[in-house]
Amino acid sequence: MNWKANKILASGMFIFLGLVFLIAGNRQHSQQIREHGWMVGIKVYAIERAPALLFQEWDKLGINTVFAPQSLLNTEFRLLARKHQIKTIMIVPIFFDTDALHSNPNLYAITDDGVLAKEEWVEFVCPSRKDYRKLKIDSIRTLIREFDPDGLSLDFIRHFVFWEKVYPNCPPETISNTCFDSHCLQKFQEDLNLLIPDSLLQIPEIADWIRNNYLPEWTEWKCELITNMIRDIVNAVREIKPGIEVNVHAVPWRENDFGNAIKSVTGQDFSKIDAHVDMLSPMTYAHMVKQKPEWVNSVVQDLAHQVKCKVVPSIQVNKAYLTEPLTVTEFEKSLIAALKKPSSGVIFWSWEQLDEYPEKKEILRSVLNK
Ligand SMILES: [Zn+2]
Repeated sequence: MNWKANKILASGMFIFLGLVFLIAGNRQHSQQIREHGWMVGIKVYAIERAPALLFQEWDKLGINTVFAPQSLLNTEFRLLARKHQIKTIMIVPIFFDTDALHSNPNLYAITDDGVLAKEEWVEFVCPSRKDYRKLKIDSIRTLIREFDPDGLSLDFIRHFVFWEKVYPNCPPETISNTCFDSHCLQKFQEDLNLLIPDSLLQIPEIADWIRNNYLPEWTEWKCELITNMIRDIVNAVREIKPGIEVNVHAVPWRENDFGNAIKSVTGQDFSKIDAHVDMLSPMTYAHMVKQKPEWVNSVVQDLAHQVKCKVVPSIQVNKAYLTEPLTVTEFEKSLIAALKKPSSGVIFWSWEQLDEYPEKKEILRSVLNK
């Protein structure tokens, strides 16, 4: 046999072994899903087909959990979900509440520049308002009683940031910090028993003073506002439904990204949140934030290292905010990265996007169901 034939034979062996590993890898996915109860979830925001047909298709695709807002969780939807043994998780936004803000603009969080916490469609309520927090918890109680979902998925439970447009080389100091309205400043001073000097009148000056003198305390205080809200919601819903599964949508920033912005900017301290929830789902939309598909696993690893609860990444199906296409290959790589250890499954964002791309459904089917 000449060297060329040897080379062809060697290449053939490589391809064969590659296929064997690929098939074994896929088998492992379906085994993990079946035997270890991995989540294969889909976020659904609007329905354009008969729900019965949708559930049939989700079933065939291997979807075992549907994340949906209350508007979709009517009786027919819930009965179909039960029939197909698909879990229903209700998505509830917490500090993103356009109706509340528009009817009472006094609720807006305030940035370190002294302006409303608002960027394009993202606008946030100040997280220290007792009345708002109570009303939100009461409304969630009502929703759980009325819709009886299997789980609750807390979205926008954090401080303001339009993270969807924060790219890898973003200087941390350019990311807005909140909330510097009178309620938060008052509560921060009371809780820490300190006084902001009277000579400081403008919010940017006050924000600088806090940053220069009390940054660790400010960050911890911000995190507590979020953790306590999660704790209070979870306690309230478990009084009604003790076994309800609770998820938190996590901003996909690792501990050291953007100078610890996951705590100092968003106030999401996963090591504390962990005690109150069943799972955390980082919104690892790699294409959107200009990251490679492999980054999905690095976020899951970083998060899992901080917590004991399950971590299930949510991945993007199609492009968002950017013009470059999210290719089928990129989607496949993201899905494979999402299922790598220590992940406990995957959630697709969103059904509306997946439904437009049959070739991406095919990828999902082949990776999950073999
Ligand atoms: Zn505030």
